[in-house]
Amino acid sequence: MECLYCNCKILKESKEHIIQNALGGHLVSTEICCPECNNAIQKLIDDEFTNIFAPITTRIQNLKKTSNTKGKPSTAAYGLYHGETYEIFIKGNTIVSCPQLNKKLKRNLTSEDIDEIEIIGYKFDVENRSFINGICKIATNFAVMNKVPVNNLKDKMTIEISDDILAGIEFKYPVLPFAALNHFDLLMETGTPIETLYHHLILFNIGDLLWCYVDLFNTFQYYILLSDKWDGAHIYTSYCQKIERFDRTPPNVRVRKPKDILTYSQMYKVNPTTDIDIFKKSIVDKIKKTPYECDINDIVKDNVNILSPILDFSGDKEMILEYLTDVSFYQNEDGDLNAGVFRRFSPFKTGEQLRFGSYPDMIHDLMNDNQNSIRKYTFSKFERLNQYLSFSKYM
Ligand SMILES: [Zn+2]
Repeated sequence: MECLYCNCKILKESKEHIIQNALGGHLVSTEICCPECNNAIQKLIDDEFTNIFAPITTRIQNLKKTSNTKGKPSTAAYGLYHGETYEIFIKGNTIVSCPQLNKKLKRNLTSEDIDEIEIIGYKFDVENRSFINGICKIATNFAVMNKVPVNNLKDKMTIEISDDILAGIEFKYPVLPFAALNHFDLLMETGTPIETLYHHLILFNIGDLLWCYVDLFNTFQYYILLSDKWDGAHIYTSYCQKIERFDRTPPNVRVRKPKDILTYSQMYKVNPTTDIDIFKKSIVDKIKKTPYECDINDIVKDNVNILSPILDFSGDKEMILEYLTDVSFYQNEDGDLNAGVFRRFSPFKTGEQLRFGSYPDMIHDLMNDNQNSIRKYTFSKFERLNQYLSFSKYM
């Protein structure tokens, strides 16, 4: 096994987190890099990258604390003022400054000026080098872990080795922000409040394009183009994990009547038995062993189940019809995801005909046509995360 960065033989095992440990990533591999490069990349990429998320990770219950906890930082965002887009800085939902508009108007901004600025999106995106490097590293790790030959990945990696030690690294893969392009995805991503925080990765190809979809905190969603010369086999691999640490303290199980056994067995998904000691032990074991890894299929199903009754009562018949068409594209009759389509293809209509296209290609087109619609989507995701974090603080 060779190190991805310095090409030396990996003699001593070194655990590399596919998604950074400081972000609550649980998936690890010992087949990516040597201990020296692992150390180096922590300083070159991970520290800065995970700091960007400090305003989020410090608010998640039971997640490993990162060092950057001082104050409430202002966040860069985009604001619309008299039809033009400006970079603004906000704290919560309050605009604190807009240097670009200052400059344009050649004066300090009044509160009336500020009132006229519409916040249309956070600038939490692909213009930040540390951010790109961190996201691309996750995609690369996931690809190597899934046996993608490294010569497919190295084209767009700039590696600098000095005295046998990794001294610099940059990932130059094209990165696209995700935005929901159909009713199914839009409702699944923004139609209901967050139930559980999760990270989700999908590695897939469409012809000779090899993509990795990276979704962090069910909020920061990107497509990374790892290779445009993929000549390997068809690939579609997904990994999903919950983020918040589980409370593994044994519950207080009290069985007063036989029906209680059934209730508990459903709640903890263990087999019912009338031997109370064995029953309690199986619950404790189950809680101890509950894995962080989960199935995206279950998450999608839960969301769709919540949505269906809401939709039945909404008046927009055409929207419901389109939604149902999208559902049947993504899910089979049992409500399970159809193989290999989620985040890979999106259905769209031309006239009466239903077609489907490459999701990242369609995003790429949208970026050229209407970048603000992507910003608005990203902003709504960020708002949803903020709502979840503010709420869970009081739980
Ligand atoms: Zn190395």
